Amino acid sequence: MTTTAISPPPAHPVLDVPPVVEEHLEEDERAALTERIKRLMRERDAILVAHYYTSGDLQRLAEETGGCVSDSLEMARFGHAAKAGTLVVAGVRFMGETAKILNPEKRVLMPDLQAECSLDLSCPAEEFVPFCDAHPDRTVVVYANTSAAVKARADWVVTSSIAVKVAQHLKERGEKLIWAPDRYLGDYVRRTTGADMVLWQGSCVVHEKFKAEGIRELKREHPEAAILVHPESPPEVIALADVVGSTTQLIRAVEQLPHPTFIVATDNGIFHKMHAVAPAKRLIEAPSGGRGATCVSCAHCPWMAMNGLRKLARVLETGENEILVPEPIRVQAVRSINRMLAFSGQAGIQVAGMSGD
Ligand code: SF4
Repeated sequence: MTTTAISPPPAHPVLDVPPVVEEHLEEDERAALTERIKRLMRERDAILVAHYYTSGDLQRLAEETGGCVSDSLEMARFGHAAKAGTLVVAGVRFMGETAKILNPEKRVLMPDLQAECSLDLSCPAEEFVPFCDAHPDRTVVVYANTSAAVKARADWVVTSSIAVKVAQHLKERGEKLIWAPDRYLGDYVRRTTGADMVLWQGSCVVHEKFKAEGIRELKREHPEAAILVHPESPPEVIALADVVGSTTQLIRAVEQLPHPTFIVATDNGIFHKMHAVAPAKRLIEAPSGGRGATCVSCAHCPWMAMNGLRKLARVLETGENEILVPEPIRVQAVRSINRMLAFSGQAGIQVAGMSGD
């Protein structure tokens, strides 16, 4: 593995991780809200695109109304193809921004603008841009979980499904990289490719808490299980995996592998889709450090949990929470996204996992 002489900036502690507060609805309220939202979507010419980590209620509603449930690139692509003039993005803020970057002519609304992402928060443009400027000899590769302004400074945006291929390609061209923001995914890519990469020190509050020892114990109890791990997890957890992959790749693994049981180390919102594609398979949540008194994750993203039917109805009613991206930033950001899409097209690679999730 290549070492590097320059040091990245120190880790960014995420100080204000909110508690996980999920929306709980009685059956009659859920039914009334669902009907109201369906009516408003027709009246407002809107379509719902929801991430795999949002609630079952939102995922069901997206599917029932002709929207989509996916990773964020697919969400943005779907929004582009959709005829609706308004995209309602149930997810976290960078997903709304990505949808706007790729669909500037459409109105993009989100149920809650406070729905952030610890990776995005750990890489503020005002610190990242000068760091990149100080190392002009390095190609800047950023993960999808970043703000529009950070994407605008990048040479490449990558997803978890294509990160290794892009790093390998750049290494073969003799390029040295700055990688941001996820240090675990960056470490995985660096170990896999041997590329010269300086890693920004961000992390995902959900994935970094999965515990290797707890997963080993579960595997002893369920030797028939396959272990599925998202590459935003720590290396000792990744080392236990039968499959390391993006959300879309992990869902496909549940559908296609012969194992009857899966130990799943990613946000448990994904279980909704996994159950839908493989109802006979048993899914077990991988143990997370967030289960104690200091719980901030409990294998569920606190920001994803901010999405819900009540807030969705309100934004459709009022038109508030619109995502706007200044045009000069959008134009720069779309270049780095398009570079990845062109590469994936040439390489015949299906790009998925734009959420990192
Ligand atoms: S689960 Fe996804 S959205 Fe939530 S903090 Fe982690 S990477 Fe960000």
